[in-house]
Amino acid sequence: MTPNGTCDVAVVGLGPAGRALAHRSLSAGLSVLAIDPAPQRPWRQTLAGWTAQLPPWLPREAVGAVADDPVIRADPSAESSAECGAGSGYPVRARYGVLDNSALAAALPLSGARIEARAITDTELAQLPARVVVDARGSRPVGLGRSHRREGRNGDGAVNGVLNGVPLQRAFGVMFEPHVAAPVLDGAGAVLMDWRPHDGATAWGERSPTFLYVIPLPDSRVLLEETCLVGRPGPDHTQLRHRLEQRLLRYGIGRSVIEGAGHERVTIPMLRAPRTGAAWSFGAAGAQHNPITGYSVFASLAAVDGVVARIAQAVRDGHRTPRSQLGRRPAGGPPLIRRAALRALLRLGPDDTMALFDAFGRLPARRQQQVLDAGATTPEVARALYAQFRRLPPRSATALIRASLV
Ligand SMILES: Cc1cc2nc3c(=O)[nH]c(=O)nc-3n(C[C@H](O)[C@H](O)[C@H](O)COP(=O)(O)OP(=O)(O)OC[C@H]3O[C@@H](n4cnc5c(N)ncnc54)[C@H](O)[C@@H]3O)c2cc1C
Repeated sequence: MTPNGTCDVAVVGLGPAGRALAHRSLSAGLSVLAIDPAPQRPWRQTLAGWTAQLPPWLPREAVGAVADDPVIRADPSAESSAECGAGSGYPVRARYGVLDNSALAAALPLSGARIEARAITDTELAQLPARVVVDARGSRPVGLGRSHRREGRNGDGAVNGVLNGVPLQRAFGVMFEPHVAAPVLDGAGAVLMDWRPHDGATAWGERSPTFLYVIPLPDSRVLLEETCLVGRPGPDHTQLRHRLEQRLLRYGIGRSVIEGAGHERVTIPMLRAPRTGAAWSFGAAGAQHNPITGYSVFASLAAVDGVVARIAQAVRDGHRTPRSQLGRRPAGGPPLIRRAALRALLRLGPDDTMALFDAFGRLPARRQQQVLDAGATTPEVARALYAQFRRLPPRSATALIRASLV
């Protein structure tokens, strides 16, 4: 810190991304101002991702549960959901991890930082006493705009698209003891996506498709979530809960078991609004956000040291908050191509969506990772999406081309 109180970097927002950035900046010898209305507030959401993305400096205890080769089930011609076992799914050849949020926070100490408990407006960002200001305030949602209007109600009453609606990922989840969840997992360590209809139908028809996500939790329970990958707004939490109940009933898990279990509600804005040019952005506020999956935390942890190096360089060069996104290259990933993929997903019909994920399940592991990893380069993502396209049946391939045209 300079004698007049100016820090090297101000990190605004102490979610997982901002806290990791503040911590690694301190470790690199930078002086840090860290600001959040509730700096010590625990993170309550379940945070999962691919462990290969995690940096070597993160202690192993930060990962509270792992599952190898989680499966994707999306074959519409497979047996009913209840009869379908792990053998009928496609394994994604990678290790999926769930963070222990308390251990993660403990692994990111901020001793030495100046911490202020307050909210910062866009105007105040430009006035903070720091050479570099980083906006890590999480995502601020935005719609895809007028040209993507598609309104109407689906068979299940869910609104499929609204004018300038914000694309959202929503999920309703329950937490079960492992023996209760065992029939659903049926030998798999985790189910990344089971796209087959919750009610045992072989097609979604006009209904918004949703999938079941099943992962182990750090407290040794299992999370089962009915998820709408992206909708504007798509099925709400009540509709998702209803679908989950129907799905689980097919495995012999009754409503009373769900009533007595812990719950989680997920809402993730899939597109973020552009931030003010006064600050660099990082995490869900920045290029680490993957608009195809809605996830950002593992990509933020993967990118953080590259970003700290750029901050240190900017401080050495005497720059003040250049107008660019931190970590966008090489660690941040390709927003344009992912944005186009998100738009196509929103326009694709329900059964073609299921076919798309069936094709995803049949991709080689490397290509699957390139779709899922926000740090993959544009050519990598393009090649992976093309490989997925080539695995589609002709009807769905034509539908995807139509959905991709602006
Ligand atoms: C139930 C649930 C499950 C999820 N599961 C996953 C998952 O498995 N994997 C994944 O990657 N993502 C998941 N997400 C999304 C996940 O929450 C975000 O990806 C993650 O929290 C982003 O981290 P972040 O630090 O960038 O932003 P945030 O966690 O949103 O943190 C932003 C911080 O900024 C602070 N802030 C806000 N406004 C201001 C202001 N004006 N001034 C100062 N500070 C401010 C907030 O207090 C907060 O601490 C999930 C979300 C939910 C709700």
